[in-house]
Amino acid sequence: MASIRPRAVLALDQGTTSSRALVVGADGRILGRAQAEFPQHFPRPGWVEHDPEDLWRTTRDAARAAIAQAGMMPEAIGITNQRETVMLWDRRTGAPVGPAIVWQDRRTAPRCAELRAAGEAETLYRITGLVPDPYFSATKLEWLLREVARPRGIALTDLAAGTVDSWLIWRLTDGAVHATDHTNASRTMLCDIAAREWSAPLLERFGIPRELLPEIRPSAGTFGVAAAEHLGAALPILGVAGDQQAALWGQGCWRSGEGKNTYGTGAFLLLNTGRARPAGGRGILTTLACDAEGAPVYALESSIFVAGAAVQWLRDGLGLLDAARESEAMARAVPSTDGVYFVPALTGLGAPAWEPEARGTIVGLTRGTQRAHLVRAALEAMAYGTADVLETMRSVSGASLDLLRVDGGATFNDWLMQFQADVLGVPVERPDEIETTALGAAGLAGIAAGVWPDAAAFLAARRYQRFAPTGGENPARAGLGGWRRAVRATVSWARDRDG
Ligand code: ADP
Repeated sequence: MASIRPRAVLALDQGTTSSRALVVGADGRILGRAQAEFPQHFPRPGWVEHDPEDLWRTTRDAARAAIAQAGMMPEAIGITNQRETVMLWDRRTGAPVGPAIVWQDRRTAPRCAELRAAGEAETLYRITGLVPDPYFSATKLEWLLREVARPRGIALTDLAAGTVDSWLIWRLTDGAVHATDHTNASRTMLCDIAAREWSAPLLERFGIPRELLPEIRPSAGTFGVAAAEHLGAALPILGVAGDQQAALWGQGCWRSGEGKNTYGTGAFLLLNTGRARPAGGRGILTTLACDAEGAPVYALESSIFVAGAAVQWLRDGLGLLDAARESEAMARAVPSTDGVYFVPALTGLGAPAWEPEARGTIVGLTRGTQRAHLVRAALEAMAYGTADVLETMRSVSGASLDLLRVDGGATFNDWLMQFQADVLGVPVERPDEIETTALGAAGLAGIAAGVWPDAAAFLAARRYQRFAPTGGENPARAGLGGWRRAVRATVSWARDRDG
């Protein structure tokens, strides 16, 4: 009897604390799944490093374990990764030169302050869509060249530089390919996002020779072939995207007006705005994402520093609940917060208020306030904070928002999802598979490999739970005014220092 060879794709998801691998079958099922953690290094306050060898080794080990669990060999590889983290290696040996400097690392804060003071912010924003911040790769790479490569006397021609995706591609292909994709490049603060090429003036500004950097390629396409010794068969690498853009793609947000929000410790929002470059500003960044074919489109990006962490704090700091999931029943147990608003600015406020000195604020307390009101106010804050960011994205860019797809731990809270849809007035959809980042990498590689004829076929197996906005009189949306008043109070408390 003739048998049809089952088809599958391997997704490698190299994250900040662990490397994961997923084997995704052509029918959309997850056939194999593995994860390997690696050490974090904090050599000084504010410094965060990874050993590039750890990133490679755990990625390869997770991949082998996922393939073994699936019991079949996938036919292509998709890579997604922690963004902005950057490293150097020796072209002759493939050995790392110094550590990988992680996106969280703040060592280049003085350099970024200098760039701002020199009036460079506007130029940087115009070219890269980003603001001078240690978060992005440029100043980290500048630091590695100055502090690591130069003292060791290594010739620049013997060095290669790159973000995590290009490091993994180099290792998988045994040094045959030095490439990255446009989404990862767009987070380096070295990429001209309109030309989708390294910016010559910025390379000069940061003292980075063009020859050091990988070639920028579309996210769905060829990135070389992984040598058979690594995973048991020679496999083409056909998809690459940074983690947030991979999640946006894996959520099926391929068209302008489609956005995703990840509700974890913090919240990460991306809104696809299509082919015309949107204006950003007010703390909203402009970046590159992918359309249904993996070709570059623009997206707006922003994050909320504290989202689910507010629930964690009510649990661990105040002991108001035993588990985060109890928050749902508590929120349902009261008809409203009774006028209480909790602005969880525990580590400052991001866009649109942008006040690093802000701290958490609870307003509207009365003798009648109970713990359920506070818990509900923490959940409402996630929805209101998300609405503020999306509203700002809409107003600075004129972009529309037609659909919000969601993932992350707090999205299991059905009450919160309904409240979010009501506040936004647009449908909120939660997929049955929350590994949206790895799915995005699998999908990009799978459409390039022909495992799926197109993006829609890739998502055909997914099911979404839809939370439609309540029409008519909608108390959730009506509460937005009170929330904004509470945010103004929070900002004013931070700024009013001399009575
Ligand atoms: P991360 O990847 O950032 O660690 P997760 O996606 O695992 O985060 O989500 C965990 C966060 O979600 C925690 O901050 C937790 O407080 C919150 N959370 C988890 N379950 C719920 C729930 N049912 N309702 C509200 N918040 C929740």
